[in-house]
Amino acid sequence: MRKVDQSKDVYVLLVEDDRDDFFLTQDLLQRIERERYWVVWAGSYDRAKLELHERVFDVVLVDYRIGERTGLDFISDVGPRYPHCPMILLTGLADPDIDFAAERAGAADYLVKDSLTEGLLDRSIRYARQSAQKRALLDGVLSNAAAGMIGLDGHGMPIIWNSKALEALQLDAVASTELSAQMIADALGRVNSGGTGSSELTRADGRSFEVSISRIKDGGAVAVLHDITMRVQAEQHLRQAVEEAERANKAKSSFLATMSHELRTPLNGILGMTRVLEGTALSEVQIDGIDVIRSSGTTLLNIINDILDLSKIEAGRMELEDLEISICDLVDDVVRLLAPTALEKGVEMSAFVDPLVQTMMRGDPLRLKQVLTNLVGNAVKFTSTGSILIAVDETVVGQKPMLRFSVVDTGIGIPATKLDTLFVKFSQVDASTTREFGGTGLGLALCKELIGLMGGEISCSSLPDHGSTFRFQLPIAAEHSAMVLARHAGVQCPGARVIVASPSTGIVNAVGAYARAINATVTTATSVEAARKAGEAGRFDAVILDGGFGAFGINELVRSLAGAAAPSQRLFLLEGTPGQGRELGIGDEQILPRPFVRQTFDRILKRLKDRVEQTPAAQQPAAKAASGRLLRILMAEDNPANQRVATALLKAAGFHIDIVGNGRAAVERATAAEFDIILMDVQMPIMDGLTATRRLREIEKLALIPIVGLTAGAMEEDRSKCLAAGMSDYLSKPIDWDKLLSLLERIERERYGKAAGSRTAAA
Ligand code: ADP
Repeated sequence: MRKVDQSKDVYVLLVEDDRDDFFLTQDLLQRIERERYWVVWAGSYDRAKLELHERVFDVVLVDYRIGERTGLDFISDVGPRYPHCPMILLTGLADPDIDFAAERAGAADYLVKDSLTEGLLDRSIRYARQSAQKRALLDGVLSNAAAGMIGLDGHGMPIIWNSKALEALQLDAVASTELSAQMIADALGRVNSGGTGSSELTRADGRSFEVSISRIKDGGAVAVLHDITMRVQAEQHLRQAVEEAERANKAKSSFLATMSHELRTPLNGILGMTRVLEGTALSEVQIDGIDVIRSSGTTLLNIINDILDLSKIEAGRMELEDLEISICDLVDDVVRLLAPTALEKGVEMSAFVDPLVQTMMRGDPLRLKQVLTNLVGNAVKFTSTGSILIAVDETVVGQKPMLRFSVVDTGIGIPATKLDTLFVKFSQVDASTTREFGGTGLGLALCKELIGLMGGEISCSSLPDHGSTFRFQLPIAAEHSAMVLARHAGVQCPGARVIVASPSTGIVNAVGAYARAINATVTTATSVEAARKAGEAGRFDAVILDGGFGAFGINELVRSLAGAAAPSQRLFLLEGTPGQGRELGIGDEQILPRPFVRQTFDRILKRLKDRVEQTPAAQQPAAKAASGRLLRILMAEDNPANQRVATALLKAAGFHIDIVGNGRAAVERATAAEFDIILMDVQMPIMDGLTATRRLREIEKLALIPIVGLTAGAMEEDRSKCLAAGMSDYLSKPIDWDKLLSLLERIERERYGKAAGSRTAAA
């Protein structure tokens, strides 16, 4: 009995106009045991079309002759509409031409009726159905693909494609009617003119596609069409956003530059006038008031400067100087500026500049000082007991020698969770309204930017309630690192024994670090008792005592450590109270000032090396004798407050000064009378300072007169404008009066010789 398996039912449409032939073929099919064939007969071309339209067939067998038409016509005309139904051509005789034409028309196979057997028919139908199934699967893959895809034969003619490809090429409307492979080939050719590779197609409706054609191994190629409209639009938006941001940033930085100018000018008047007032007889209340005005004004000026600096960096307009920097002097300046404030709070400040570190490096001294001042200023602000140490030594990062600056404090510290945002603009650890410390949160952000510009990096480690350490490293130029080695030998003092006794761990650490750096043996003690005990154990080449132990403790230590009633040459005293050293009867060179810095240690080192003769006391500032001034000054300045400040200060310093309110008046006055120098404000009504300078330079007798620009613009270009207009120098506002006075003195000396006026202390 024949087993009937429903899944093996195969529906065949037999297109045959000869009745006998139909029965013959049907008979063959029904003799096949493997499958169950159900055959539907269509005796004409149109009948066949109708059957296909109404029912689903697994295969079509079509005779070569169907009335007036041929099976080839049927396969090529009707076949494409039923791509998953294979069509096999049957012919009366074997003819290679028909075989070839059948393949071209898209027939799945070609069979000769005379030699047809049931086995042959069965195999042909099975193979045809199998490849139709594969084709259906491939079509499924293609229609589900995210991109448009076209498979091309070796001649570049499309064989398969999906609807996304047609849509990308805008052929979808045509597809429903008569779409030929040639049309697809033409559309693709318009986008990608032959060959392989990628191209971009932007359609009139604004959609964009990336078309890439790649060859496949055995001839033929695959074209993939990706819809990149979103990406292109996003890129466009991004470009627009960047352009807008750049425009906004430019506007912001020019706004800030203008604002800072506007803010600095009145501040100039305020700060200058406090100096004038300080020189007059004042009551205590007035002195207090002026102090407040001055310190508030200075704070405001610092904030304005920070904001301006940050906006300059952001706008890429920060230019760093490349000058020789003396590290010792720079650290010394910062320590001297801030140590008094620390000491007022009972916080000891000291500095350690490793003697092996070269003292000179190249860079921007003002900016470096700004960073260090900021960090040390913060240390002072956030430390109420203990000490602050500023240390400079060398370290190697990735084989590059770096100069390492550390600011170590014993202050309130910073919680680990806040370390990440420390260098972010406007961020403060305690941002509550009840916070104890003022500030803007700009300082560290600026430090980070500046150090970045200098090629370095900044970091912080901290333990709450124990203190913080801020570190930054700057690269050392190769020629400078060579010098380090050369110096190495010079500072060694192997075997020298040093003892330092101080109640301040800051001092003990700093002196200890210096002593170790020169290979000396160092003993440290933070109490009189401990120091005395150490003294019993040995003799020292240098004994450094802190006057902070008080007269009694010091006397005891002098006896036990310096070892004589008359203190020896080996004794050094860090004065706790003025005159303490003199009471002990030791020389000036042996009295060490606070704060303890590298220069302080150098004195001890000199002794230790026992080489250098003692030099007379530090250079005194030039004697100041009151005498008449010879320099004649013309100042052009429109701001009445600035005019008054300048008149008061320069007259107090003994100078002759004439003031005019605009550039034109300056040109007229300078032509009419004799002056030695002109101070020229840049922004003035009627005629600005730059135009006035150009006019003055055209007048023969004034071609060489020093003209100093006074500019509130802090941008580099403001300054270069001054020089380009013919000014010989410039000062930025608010005017640093000390700078101006020393400039005037220098010019006076150059013009009238050394004997000429020296000033009484001005303001
Ligand atoms: P400002 O001091 O003006 O607030 P900074 O950028 O200089 O701004 O500092 C940001 C914050 O970092 C400070 O508000 C403070 O909370 C914290 N900070 C900075 N330095 C120290 C320090 N040495 N010890 C403790 N906290 C510090």
